[in-house]
Amino acid sequence: MVTKADILERVKRRGERVTLPRLAVIEALCALNSHQTAQSIQQHLAGQQIDLEESTVYRVLQWLKDLGIVAQTDLGQSGITYEVVSTPPHHHLVCLVCGQIQDVDDSVLEPLRRHLRADYAFEPRIDHMAFFGICCRCRSAGSVDREDAESLPPR
Ligand SMILES: [Zn+2]
Ligand SMILES: [Zn+2]
Repeated sequence: MVTKADILERVKRRGERVTLPRLAVIEALCALNSHQTAQSIQQHLAGQQIDLEESTVYRVLQWLKDLGIVAQTDLGQSGITYEVVSTPPHHHLVCLVCGQIQDVDDSVLEPLRRHLRADYAFEPRIDHMAFFGICCRCRSAGSVDREDAESLPPR
């Protein structure tokens, strides 16, 4: 679990200033569950009499993302979500049929990281990934066979 103190320390180590909107968004990220949207953070703050424009919340989230503190992930139906990068990172399998979200261990991505480093001299930052597909329940339910799955529109 990453605490507010951890985040503030990381921000200060990067020589960045902590303004009131920045502090408010950091506090909200720590208080709320993972996978928040800019809108849900804005609403949480509004409930605490802290009125920030959604665009301000969005800008702070982008700033935290640039600092590597927050990961931004498209979780499909849930929209673009944000969460504090944890150690070790975690990832998700998102079912395109039922919308179920399943966690994936970070070790699954280690071979991909090695491959990108070795063959592309590229240091990937894979903090929080979502893979879209068909979950095992939907596959075995037979509601979607292979061809249907492949003809789903790209997101
Ligand atoms: Zn997540
Ligand atoms: Zn499913």
